[in-house]
Amino acid sequence: MSDTKSWYSKGADGFKVKDQIDATMAVRKERGVPRFMLKAGEEAIVAFCDSIPFFIWEHNLKIGGRWGNYVTCVKEIRSCPIDDSGERATYTGYLTVIDTREFIRNDGNKVKNRKILYPAKGSTIKRLEDLMKKYGTLAGRAFKIKRYSKDDPNCGTDFEFLKQVTLKGDNAVPVEYDKILAPPTPEELVALGFTSNIAGQQTDTGLENLATGTTVGGTKPGDKTATELGAGATATNSFEDLF
Ligand SMILES: [Zn+2]
Repeated sequence: MSDTKSWYSKGADGFKVKDQIDATMAVRKERGVPRFMLKAGEEAIVAFCDSIPFFIWEHNLKIGGRWGNYVTCVKEIRSCPIDDSGERATYTGYLTVIDTREFIRNDGNKVKNRKILYPAKGSTIKRLEDLMKKYGTLAGRAFKIKRYSKDDPNCGTDFEFLKQVTLKGDNAVPVEYDKILAPPTPEELVALGFTSNIAGQQTDTGLENLATGTTVGGTKPGDKTATELGAGATATNSFEDLF
């Protein structure tokens, strides 16, 4: 994209954004599991399914003007073209929770008690470690989680233990992190607009490499806190319904 900010895209630039949106949707459709998030001032009641966080580095990409496109960083195993483009990765510890909030989907249907990813970031990681020291395990424990300000991580920072619960069936099984959070393939990275510096073989295909040198978004370092996405129209707690 260009360095100049604009509320529209024209011609080839617009088509390229659409390609990136589609590529992201394809990745997320395969692996898409909703993520827990709170807006500033919000709280939610969740029950943890597990207690062994699955830690990764991940990027939050701005595509088509929107944040919330999470891509696992590959820098621990090979050169990461997203890092090379100047994007920073965030250390994130994943757990699985049952979110008791009720969401109204776009089709009007209500859903609640969804099994979703809980991405712990920043100081929340150490808070979870402290909770594990205190309670032994978080699995089968219900907490009220609150996020006070927009400067706090959107996973919330304040945990109030409510009670022990029994999760049954699929709700007792954590997300398959190694599949859901699998890092992107070089092809997927290219589709997202990132080309690896070491992937010289791509120039041998005879195809024009349209993605070379492009970065997704037009990011500025200060923008990273603006990761809030409306996960649903309205959300209310309905704790009793879960058990
Ligand atoms: Zn990376």
